[in-house]
Amino acid sequence: MLKRMMFMCEECGFRSDNQEDVGRCEQYHKDMERILQCTEFEITQQHLKLLQRQNVKFRRSGEYGGTEIDPKRPYGNSYVEGDILEILGIQGDVDEGDGSYSCSEELEKRLFHLHAETAVALQICMSLLKFETGKYERKPDWIMGKWVKTQH
Ligand SMILES: [Zn+2]
Repeated sequence: MLKRMMFMCEECGFRSDNQEDVGRCEQYHKDMERILQCTEFEITQQHLKLLQRQNVKFRRSGEYGGTEIDPKRPYGNSYVEGDILEILGIQGDVDEGDGSYSCSEELEKRLFHLHAETAVALQICMSLLKFETGKYERKPDWIMGKWVKTQH
């Protein structure tokens, strides 16, 4: 019997025999942690465009449930990168030679980061009851912190 070397993501337990895939998974958790814990954030027009199109649901789970952005189809379709490109009015950066464009790994990562950052942008917008571009700073307070605008 052929025994394959297995790797596992320390954070979520994802297993694969492909060390690179597991490395990407671990990087994903680190990136998310960094994004969600930030104390300075700039809301751009791109964040607002994405928030405007997010698929808001109510999930009934546990005792109460709660409002959520559909994690499977955050913009309505399962091809999330495609939705993001369409919403932002940009195209992939790899010319397929047949008139179509796909995304490089680098661009996919940038789009994913932008998508993850909408969580912080939404926290800021909700806490200030305003959807405005600009620079914000988080002061320690309550659960999400208290965001204040520092620059327009
Ligand atoms: Zn993981």
